[in-house]
Amino acid sequence: MALIQQLSDTLSNKIAAGEVVERPASVVKELVENAIDAKSTSIRVDVKDGGLASIRVLDNGNGIEPDDRETAFLRHATSKIKHDHDLFRIKTLGFRGEALPSIASVSKLTLKTSSDGLSGETLSFEAGKLTERVSSSARKGTEIIVEELFFNTPARLKYVKTIHTELGHITDVMNRMALAHPTIAFTLTHESHTLLETSGKGDLLRVIAAIYGVNMAKKMIPFQAESLDYKVTGFLARPEVTRANRSYMSTVINGRFVKNYAMMRAIQAGYHTLLPIGKYPVVVLHVEMNPLLVDVNVHPSKLEVRLSKEQAMEELIRDAIAARFKEETLIPSMQKEK
Ligand code: ADP
Ligand code: MG
Repeated sequence: MALIQQLSDTLSNKIAAGEVVERPASVVKELVENAIDAKSTSIRVDVKDGGLASIRVLDNGNGIEPDDRETAFLRHATSKIKHDHDLFRIKTLGFRGEALPSIASVSKLTLKTSSDGLSGETLSFEAGKLTERVSSSARKGTEIIVEELFFNTPARLKYVKTIHTELGHITDVMNRMALAHPTIAFTLTHESHTLLETSGKGDLLRVIAAIYGVNMAKKMIPFQAESLDYKVTGFLARPEVTRANRSYMSTVINGRFVKNYAMMRAIQAGYHTLLPIGKYPVVVLHVEMNPLLVDVNVHPSKLEVRLSKEQAMEELIRDAIAARFKEETLIPSMQKEK
C-alpha cells in the first residue's frame, strides 16, 4: 500500500505561511511590496491591535485583472516572472508567488480591486478558501484587508508578542519601505494614530526627517559615488551623530531594503576613526546596479541578497565615504582662511 501522498493545496499553503508569515509585520511587508510592484504612487496601511485584529493595505496601483483575481491566490502563481532566466534579472520585489496564498491560508482576507477604475470586485477568503465574489465599487487599485491573523494556527498566535512589539516591527517595515521609495507617498496608522506619513515627492532627506526627525535630517550630508557597475547615492550623518547599534545604517539595492554585511562593513570602514569604538553611524544609501549582479533568491523574506563583485562595491563605498568626510573637513577650514 502506498503511504506517500501529495499534500492538499490548503495544507501546503499553511506550511509555506509558517515561513513567509512570521508575524503581522510580515503581512504588511508582503502586501506593501505587492503594491509597489503594481506601480502605486500612494500606499496606505491601517492596522488594529498591532495587526492582529486587522491590517488594511490600500494602493492606487494597476489593480488585478478579473481573470487573475482567483489565480493570484494559488501557490506559485505570479505575474512577475515566466522563464528560468527571469530569476537572474529580477526587477520586482516579489516573484515567488507565495505571499497571497500563504497570508490567506492563516487569516480572513478580503480583496477589493479594480484594474480599469470602471468595474471592481470584492473577493472574500477564509483560511484560504474563497467564500464570496461580488462586484463592488471601482477605484483603480487594490485594497486588501487581513483580519484575525493566525486564527487557525494557535501555536503561531501564541508566539506573537505584545501589541507594542508587533507595532514596532510594523513601523520598522514601513520606515524601510519609505526610505527605499521616496517617490511613493506612504501612510501608516494604528487605530487612527498616524505613525508615518511621507509625501512621495521624491526627496529622500524629507523621508529621513519624517522617520528620524528634523534635527537628524539637518545633520545629514548628501553622498554619491559611481563606478561602471554601481551607482550609490544617499545621505551620511556627520560623524559626531552616532548610535549604539547598526540598525541606523539603511541600505537599499535596486529599490529593495537589504541587510548586507559587506555594505555595513564598507560604511564603517569609510567613517573609520571618526567613529568612537562601539558606535555606529546613521546612513541611508541607495545602490543601483545591474540585476544580474544581485541574487535575491536566497531567503523567502529577501532581506539578504548575494552580490557578485561584492568587494568592488565595498571598496567604492568605503573610499567614497572617506573622501567625502575629508572634503567636509577641508571646506570649513578653507572658508576660515579667506
Ligand atoms: P508575487 O508578488 O511573488 O508575484 P504574491 O502572492 O504576492 O506573489 O501575489 C500574486 C500576484 O497577485 C502578483 O504576481 C500580482 O500579479 C498580483 N497582486 C498582488 N497584490 C497586488 C496589488 N496590490 N496590485 C496588483 N496586483 C497584485
Ligand atoms: Mg508578492
